[in-house]
Amino acid sequence: MEIQNILVIGAGTMGNGIAHVFAQTGYNVTLVDLDGDRLQGGIGTIAKNLDRQVKKEAITEADKEATLGRIQASTDLVTSAMGADLIIEAATENPAIKAEIFRTLDANAKEGAILATNTSSISITQIAGGTKRPDKVIGMHFFNPVPVMKLVEIIRGLATSDETYAAVHQLSEKLGKTPVEVHDYPGFVSNRVLMPMINEAIYCVMEGVATPESVDTVMKLGMAHPMGPLTLADFIGLDVCLAIMEVLHKGLGDDKYRPCPLLRKMVAAGHLGRKSGKGFYQY
Ligand code: NAD
Repeated sequence: MEIQNILVIGAGTMGNGIAHVFAQTGYNVTLVDLDGDRLQGGIGTIAKNLDRQVKKEAITEADKEATLGRIQASTDLVTSAMGADLIIEAATENPAIKAEIFRTLDANAKEGAILATNTSSISITQIAGGTKRPDKVIGMHFFNPVPVMKLVEIIRGLATSDETYAAVHQLSEKLGKTPVEVHDYPGFVSNRVLMPMINEAIYCVMEGVATPESVDTVMKLGMAHPMGPLTLADFIGLDVCLAIMEVLHKGLGDDKYRPCPLLRKMVAAGHLGRKSGKGFYQY
């Protein structure tokens, strides 16, 4: 099946970025959110990011208008699901919300449509298991900011077909991204490697090994990381970091993944990083 019509569910941080890159590559995109304000906010963010590309002379004003012209906004998931060849779910990271969305997609999407999720931590096999077409379900994990970051981690659930994988791999390359094939285990590769490093950096602070500034400087200057792990944790959100550590700890059953008590304490205090104005640093 030729893929031309894309449905992106969720107009937040990731959803609007995903809609942006698909529309810019020439696909027809429907962007759905159940919250009308978030939807308008998502479209506004895409326009602002396209403006920035125009200013940098990466694209022309006409390219920008054409890209925006390929994006439709809607709050109607059922009707939008019917017309899509590929659906990418980028709604709130909550298993119950995703399960409900995939039930709706299973009931309404056309036969042959690919059902992808951008989840960071929920099992693809579990999401697929809630549908009658697990061979069509796959993880398509983009990185923030989507228009800039090259990686797409493509996650195969236990029943994902080779045909579904090949279509998503090819499509990711068409978007100018670099796809990497990953199998479905907790945290996939990205968070399985990144989060324990961040967690260990937090242990260093808790145990008084070094200050947040010193930990970040060691990793930036010694390991050539563009951003220190604690700056990155503040950027991601400490609540999100904690939730992913819990998934690794529970899913892999190994105490080496136990969340650092200081991380728990900061989340309990509402020190969530950039979004709350305070984390390891002040904003
Ligand atoms: P976000 O909170 O910015 O946006 C989520 C959007 O989903 C909100 O606008 C919300 O109104 C909408 N939504 C919730 N339930 C919905 C429903 N039933 N139907 C339609 N829309 C619904 O979240 P985000 O950071 O963009 O994350 C989205 C997904 O991407 C999550 O699964 C997350 O794990 C994953 N992810 C996030 C990042 C990141 O850096 N933020 C990176 C990779 C993957």
